[in-house]
Amino acid sequence: MRRPLTDKQLVRVAGRIHDQLASTAAASLADLEAQLQQVATGADHLRADRRKLHICRQRGWMGPVRRLLSRIERTGRELSYALSGLERAGQSVRRRGPSLREIHDELRQAQDEFGTLHYDPRLGELSVVTEPVELDGLYLGPFEIRLQIQSLTDPRHVPYRVVALEPHPAACNAAVTHPHVSEERLCPGDAGAAIGKALDAGRVCDVFTLVRSVLLAYNPESPYVALDDWFGQTCYECGYMMPPDKVRWCELCGRDFCGECAGYCHRCDETTCLGCLRTCPVCEEPTCTSCMTVCPDCGRDLCGLCLEENLCPCHEEEETDDDDRTRDDATNPAAEQEASATQPVQPAGEARG
Ligand SMILES: [Zn+2]
Ligand SMILES: [Zn+2]
Ligand SMILES: [Zn+2]
Ligand SMILES: [Zn+2]
Ligand SMILES: [Zn+2]
Repeated sequence: MRRPLTDKQLVRVAGRIHDQLASTAAASLADLEAQLQQVATGADHLRADRRKLHICRQRGWMGPVRRLLSRIERTGRELSYALSGLERAGQSVRRRGPSLREIHDELRQAQDEFGTLHYDPRLGELSVVTEPVELDGLYLGPFEIRLQIQSLTDPRHVPYRVVALEPHPAACNAAVTHPHVSEERLCPGDAGAAIGKALDAGRVCDVFTLVRSVLLAYNPESPYVALDDWFGQTCYECGYMMPPDKVRWCELCGRDFCGECAGYCHRCDETTCLGCLRTCPVCEEPTCTSCMTVCPDCGRDLCGLCLEENLCPCHEEEETDDDDRTRDDATNPAAEQEASATQPVQPAGEARG
């Protein structure tokens, strides 16, 4: 059982968050400087072009003016791009980060709201546990929301994970532990913008409560797996979602299939997917790949039943050959040697043709 963080620990964690936000602020200041440099460079180019344009105008040179003009236009486009970047960077510098005290209050509030707040110094993760989640009678258990302090304001990462503590995953996908959680990632839907703002501002408690509210409500618009399909399985072949009692399991490849994509082997009577079924060329019955075999005499593919019952066509051919030979021997005794010399070659050749 986890104990709540002591006040000393709360202060320490608040300090970590404060440092993280401060380093983000320093990064946006560097960004502002870079954007400003680009604007200044563009302005230098335009100033030089203005002087050249002045000379051209005085001397009546029209040829160079065209070249100059396309360069001025290109610089103008770059400049307007740099100016909007400057504005963005300015806004993020102006945004005042929360004070250490405010962060500390946020943490205390989260601790009150969720009962316990936990900090894992090894992973740098701050976490809370939700009450057990139940959606339309489907019990999914409690979830732990883990917030990674180091990537709190990193736009390239989603800085939080949602971990099922008593996983009741969807039957068709073990990584989906909640209609809106797959591989510990939340699909926040409409709450995404609000969560993003709370993260930027370091409002930890708001992040936790917003994520929890997504977990406690079901949005039928955008689930990874819909509640109605929670216990259903998907057919590996065609993706059809079916109730559990309609699932056919292929013994050979170990996957689930729907009735349309599965069949039976006539020899072993096992359910097999169509991909693992062949048609025996002799009896023309569906046969699973493990019941297919080859005739040791002629190398034909055939099912085990046909082999056991000596139904391979090469046996009949042999009999006909024997009949022919007996007839030949009666009329021409010298043919016997010739026949035995050609015999092993002849039927195989016919079989292949
Ligand atoms: Zn299917
Ligand atoms: Zn199969
Ligand atoms: Zn079989
Ligand atoms: Zn057969
Ligand atoms: Zn054969």
